[in-house]
Amino acid sequence: METLDLSRVTDEDRRRVAGIEQDADVTLTDCYQCGKCTAGCPMAHAMDLVPRQLVRMLQLGLIDRALTAKTPWICANCMVCSVRCPQGVDISAIMLAVRRTAKKRGLRPVREADIFDDAFVGNIRSFGKSNEAILAAKYNLLSGHLFQDVLNAPRMAARGMIGPKIHSVRDKAAVRRLVDRALGGRQGDACQGDVACQGDVKLDTLDIPNAQWDTSTCQVLRPPDTRPPDDRDANAHQNEGGERP
Ligand code: SF4
Ligand code: SF4
Repeated sequence: METLDLSRVTDEDRRRVAGIEQDADVTLTDCYQCGKCTAGCPMAHAMDLVPRQLVRMLQLGLIDRALTAKTPWICANCMVCSVRCPQGVDISAIMLAVRRTAKKRGLRPVREADIFDDAFVGNIRSFGKSNEAILAAKYNLLSGHLFQDVLNAPRMAARGMIGPKIHSVRDKAAVRRLVDRALGGRQGDACQGDVACQGDVKLDTLDIPNAQWDTSTCQVLRPPDTRPPDDRDANAHQNEGGERP
């Protein structure tokens, strides 16, 4: 059984836990440790801390234990736990928040999960849909598991799942915007989603006029001005004290 040393928990630890709580939009004290989340979790058998335990670590302020856990990286984000929780604790969101925080600190307890995640999201951002051959090749190369699943390739090719043709959607920029919004902005230097991206991909490719971006985080600083040009000009004149033409 793991021994927990609560005497070392600092105010800074509690502040960092509060950051995760805010990021996930949950109230950790709502959890009364019933374990219903864990009972329904399809991945619990592979986790070093089951979902209930991860929440408990956070409740106790043991942030470093939570950030170094494999659990959030193994989590499939199926949301069964969130649906089952009688207290309405969105554990799936907690998993993502812990994972994001760990990644920002350079922690990735399950390296392959992080590589796969980046490769998958990058695939969607680049093409609007997943191209299995590119995904597999990128993952195998970056993870060092060069021949993983290569024996499946002939069967996948026979079923049309992989091939020389790259599949993409018509409005790739729209899909990319959706992905970025869902992820809450990707870190510019960690993002490998777009081969052309050098930190200012959105300025070049997202086709959103007048938007201002923080190129280090890929987040919108000022929403785009979607008004017709005439209305914009009129407003500019008013702000300058001029008259509407
Ligand atoms: S189901 Fe909800 S209340 Fe029960 S242990 Fe899980 S998070 Fe806590
Ligand atoms: S979202 Fe993650 S923690 Fe929750 S049930 Fe699914 S795999 Fe388990």
